[in-house]
Amino acid sequence: MTATENPQTQPTDWLEVEQRLDSGVYSKHQVVMVRGKNATVWDSTGREYIDCVGGYGVANVGHSNPEVVRAIQEQAEQLIVMPQTLPNDKRAEFLQELVSVLPDGLNRVFLCNSGTEAMEAAKKFAITATGRTRFVSMKRGFSGRTLGALAFTWEPKYREPFGAAVDNEHVSFVSYGNLDELRAALTDDVAAVIMEPVQGEGGVRPGTVEFLQAARELTRERGILLILDEIQTGFCRTGKMFACEHSGVVPDAMTLAKAMAGGVPIGALAMTRDVADKMPAGGHGTTFGGNPLAMAAGVAAIGFMKRERLWEQAQQKGEYFMRRLRSIQSSKIREVRGLGLMIGVELKEKSAPYIHALEHEEGVLALQATPLVVRFLPPLTISYEQIDGAVEAFARVLGAPHPEADTLKEGIQTE
Ligand SMILES: *Cc1c(COP(=O)(O)O)cnc(C)c1O
Repeated sequence: MTATENPQTQPTDWLEVEQRLDSGVYSKHQVVMVRGKNATVWDSTGREYIDCVGGYGVANVGHSNPEVVRAIQEQAEQLIVMPQTLPNDKRAEFLQELVSVLPDGLNRVFLCNSGTEAMEAAKKFAITATGRTRFVSMKRGFSGRTLGALAFTWEPKYREPFGAAVDNEHVSFVSYGNLDELRAALTDDVAAVIMEPVQGEGGVRPGTVEFLQAARELTRERGILLILDEIQTGFCRTGKMFACEHSGVVPDAMTLAKAMAGGVPIGALAMTRDVADKMPAGGHGTTFGGNPLAMAAGVAAIGFMKRERLWEQAQQKGEYFMRRLRSIQSSKIREVRGLGLMIGVELKEKSAPYIHALEHEEGVLALQATPLVVRFLPPLTISYEQIDGAVEAFARVLGAPHPEADTLKEGIQTE
């Protein structure tokens, strides 16, 4: 009889095991999560949570979306891996599905496995497309953690431990929203400007339509590429399929990942034919990119978004969520901001204790974005009742009175 079969032994303490064996770069919460459905997750004790972390903005179609689950099951029995030199039916179907929802003009795709890899691809394609190696990125911007992408990530504490291994020399950071700074940084050795349409990690800061449009015009005039990082904002999160639709700006390249395959690791660089054409054959590549399993999950996830018009749900629920957050009477709140279901509440004090209290006292999972901001990135399938639950819990942990009920509730009720 093995230990796990012996009713006398304690159940395995998975938290202790994970803490002991993991690299140590993550500060682990004191729970073990075992199951998820839509915007609800459960821990190993059976406790239920309203999930406004959403896998860091990955679970847009809901945890374990049944259509994604079925697609993964069927594909797993058919074919899991096939390198990209060998064409595959699911990969072709995915590319067709992805290009059908992308802005016109972005019709070439490099497939990879994560957001940071999409940024790496953007960097390499921008260099070969322009013959230049200088980049302009945004203060408070986040582009990922591999050394190439890290050079575009602003937060010094992410870059400094790696010293000269991060190429800080070829990247200038300008204030997000400041056109004069941007204009001054666009010297003729610049390959590309990189920005998020809404800064996520940097505190949930939507870019203004004027800034995004001006950035598009300035870069076009000077033969510089505009790369939009839609890793967090893409796939319905902000109330449109892609956040760039709010301003009508079509970039030369767009990085994608997070929600694209319903939770399965995936990444992509979508770009114009001009950008793609300059990369020599064999100039970039990845083993797992475009694998049939992720492709099948992606076809199902994008299909679900289109059929459910998930961007409309994000827009309606996001407006409702923000209106209710704004109704909380608390002097601790400085500002509620966001776009769609990408929401940040900036406090006048550190947000960490409130995020901790939300989880422990209220069973609501939320994220930090900069020390002062509480960020909500729920699955877009979250119900209005769960939004109410999260808002009321937030009011309680802030010590604010119960927010008044909102009678303007509208839109599709989802489980
Ligand atoms: C999450 C994120 C990344 C990095 O993606 P990973 O999959 O974690 O490598 C890059 N840019 C933005 C805007 C992100 O939100």
